[in-house]
Amino acid sequence: MAGIYFHIPFCKQKCSYCDFYSRKDSNGLEELVKFEIKELVSRKDYLNKELIETIYFGGGTPSLLSIDNISELLNCTKQNFVISNECEITFEANPDDLDEEYLKCLYSLEINRLSIGIQSFNDSILKFLGRRHNSKKLQYIIETAQNIGFTNISVDLIFGIPGMELSTYLESLNRVIKLNVQHISAYSLTISKGTLFYKMLKNNKLNEINEEDLINQFNKTIDLLSDNGFLHYEISNYAKEGFKSRHNCSYWENVKYLGIGPSAHSYNLVSRQWNISDTKKYCSNIDQLKCFYEVEFLTNNDHFNEYIITGLRNSNGVSKKYIIENFDEKISCHFMKKIKNLYNDNLIYFNSDKIVLTRKGILISDYILGLLYCV
Ligand code: SF4
Repeated sequence: MAGIYFHIPFCKQKCSYCDFYSRKDSNGLEELVKFEIKELVSRKDYLNKELIETIYFGGGTPSLLSIDNISELLNCTKQNFVISNECEITFEANPDDLDEEYLKCLYSLEINRLSIGIQSFNDSILKFLGRRHNSKKLQYIIETAQNIGFTNISVDLIFGIPGMELSTYLESLNRVIKLNVQHISAYSLTISKGTLFYKMLKNNKLNEINEEDLINQFNKTIDLLSDNGFLHYEISNYAKEGFKSRHNCSYWENVKYLGIGPSAHSYNLVSRQWNISDTKKYCSNIDQLKCFYEVEFLTNNDHFNEYIITGLRNSNGVSKKYIIENFDEKISCHFMKKIKNLYNDNLIYFNSDKIVLTRKGILISDYILGLLYCV
């Protein structure tokens, strides 16, 4: 079992909070597809002919791709890899790029999962975030997709936005619940270096949300979504029964994946590989048959860190038994010592053999992972 990821690092405009690598202009998108196809063909043996269970178009903004380009990428994948009949094919989309015609074409290409970046249902908040769409368009797009036949739709929502009242956030959350989608990703806003929000923060033009309000919004998210039949299966992800993101779960379950495109990552159980993030350089290196990636072979410590990151992000947690059986004594002792303190601080709990983050722990998961890392 394996997955393939296509990265499309183009955006029409930069959102105020985003630090992902992306280019603003979409000139060169056609050319990029040409080189992604070359990369795909040249790496057709990377996954050892394993059955492809998931394909994911992410970005950036994949919905800037023409239907012809998406079709080319999918056809090339089918020609060079063995694709499962049950393959989950996810397409990330910006609501502003979608219309009925485009959605119908995606459906006819057998894309069976849409991931739509809603972020909020409040028009002032959307403007503040630098998003291109408004709430009217959101409602229309989701209903249109459902009428066309999409039965697996995920939407993204952001909480912890500076200045956003709990009531405004809950309005958005309730609107999203009423959309009758199968999956919701609710992220806490982080203000990273290089973003417009970071600049505003440094110039005292923005105040971060206070901790109590952030915790409130997070707790309400879990409670409301679980009251409405969503399982909280990963730090930021909630799904109706049978609708977890299979692609993202494979990242957390140590499954091989091939990442195509600038800055895409790949993993084959032995090493991690990441492509150059500069789109022009990526294309020209492939064109001139030069190396376009870096590789890192995983040590025992790396394998442990991977297991901890992926396991603790997940509601299944990490297994004490697995750690004792698969890692040396030094790593196991380090782990046991740390979890004792985390348990005393009510940051983790035990579910028979498994160690799982508490709500308090989820909120500071980066700090906890930092404590558990083996260096
Ligand atoms: S949030 Fe998405 S659409 Fe906005 S700039 Fe970042 S990658 Fe592009």
